[in-house]
Amino acid sequence: MIEDVDILIEHGTLLTLNGERQIITDGAIAIRKDRIAAVGKTSDLRQKFKGKKTIDASLRLVMPGLVDGHAHLGEIARGLIPDTLRTSDWLKFWCYPYMAAITEEDEYWYSKCLMAEMIRSGTTCFVEPGCMWLESTIKAVAETGMRATTGSWVWDHAGPDGHKCPEYFKKMTLRQALDLTESNVKSFNGMAEGRIKCFATIEGVGTCSDELMLGAKAIADQHGTFTLMHKASSREEVASELKATGHRPVEHMYRIGALGPNVYLNHMTAVDAFEVDMLAEADTKVCQNPPAALKLAKGTTQMSRFLEMRAKGVTVCLGCDGVNSGDHKDMFRSMYLAATLPKDAKLDPEAITAEEVVEMATLAGYRAIDWHKELGSLEPGKKADLILINVDRPEWVPTYNYVYSLVYTASGDSVETSIVDGRILMEGRRLTTIDLAEVQAHCRELAPKLAARANVKPQSRWPVL
Ligand SMILES: [Zn+2]
Repeated sequence: MIEDVDILIEHGTLLTLNGERQIITDGAIAIRKDRIAAVGKTSDLRQKFKGKKTIDASLRLVMPGLVDGHAHLGEIARGLIPDTLRTSDWLKFWCYPYMAAITEEDEYWYSKCLMAEMIRSGTTCFVEPGCMWLESTIKAVAETGMRATTGSWVWDHAGPDGHKCPEYFKKMTLRQALDLTESNVKSFNGMAEGRIKCFATIEGVGTCSDELMLGAKAIADQHGTFTLMHKASSREEVASELKATGHRPVEHMYRIGALGPNVYLNHMTAVDAFEVDMLAEADTKVCQNPPAALKLAKGTTQMSRFLEMRAKGVTVCLGCDGVNSGDHKDMFRSMYLAATLPKDAKLDPEAITAEEVVEMATLAGYRAIDWHKELGSLEPGKKADLILINVDRPEWVPTYNYVYSLVYTASGDSVETSIVDGRILMEGRRLTTIDLAEVQAHCRELAPKLAARANVKPQSRWPVL
């Protein structure tokens, strides 16, 4: 008897990321509602299923959707910040002032624009590390159909060089930060048919007291969610933390009991060997962001220990960061860097493989945010979050190894179709949930107003006539 399913994808090459990491040629996937009903050879599935909609995936690679582990939606003024700044000045003279100037309207439209960029390059799930207007972000995520974690960007002191911070940054108290965090988690965790997780997102990088770190963790523990922060991002941060506490950033968190399996730390470039053991012991999750690390000179090739973390069993996932740090939302570019930088840094081509990097952008990404039981591979029973990549393009022809081409050759432009929760968000490069012309028009109109409100002047080293 032939069963009806909502979507039957046929004739694709499937990167299943299942337990055996099988690659199925002339493969098919049956999708019923939001779940994968079956995965196998097209000839087998055609005898069992009939799709209300059929997608011909000939010359298409089908794989789980990518997870961008660090995707700011509120940090949007692309190209506004000079490309020659270190993290502290970057944050305090530029990033914070324009974040303070963002309106609810800005955040809604900019979020949609960034999500369009993500969908068009294969990302179906992202970790938003704390935004200015949470309800705008949540509305935008709900409408676009993506999967995400998010929260409000909170802190409770201005941190080192605090006098450089704009006035608004000095006003949030510990109580306000914790109250806002708890109320967000209670109100928004599980929104959009479960596609949104709300995290206790605190900023980190020297702007959060021990009480805030521990208070946020207590909220996350109580409500079954995560604490997320930026940590061990640069040598400067290590120096100021040593001065303030006598310990390195991760070591300090370990000593006060702020690490744990539901703690998610971004950047983590400046981590010492003994801190890797602390992360492993606490099963703390780590997200590396090579595009941002390179642009902001965080020293990832000289001092990062992501390979050691992985070797000790720490879950390390992969992200891009915001549009003035990583500057793009293409996880293909991030995968390329994650595969090539360690080889060069260690003078060892065996340092990491393309397959390990694809796992980082899928399985590890979902494991890092506790979604791995439902997501990250093409297997029956899992959520139907997947992408189709067009390999009928010159950069894919010929190839003897799809995984190599995915990591070392292709860009996100190859992504053609995107499905989340069984719903098609893009088909044949056409977005189905975002009116791109409308979104781009709003963003262009809002951009000069944001720069004016922030009192930040766009820079150009070349004369603009
Ligand atoms: Zn960030």
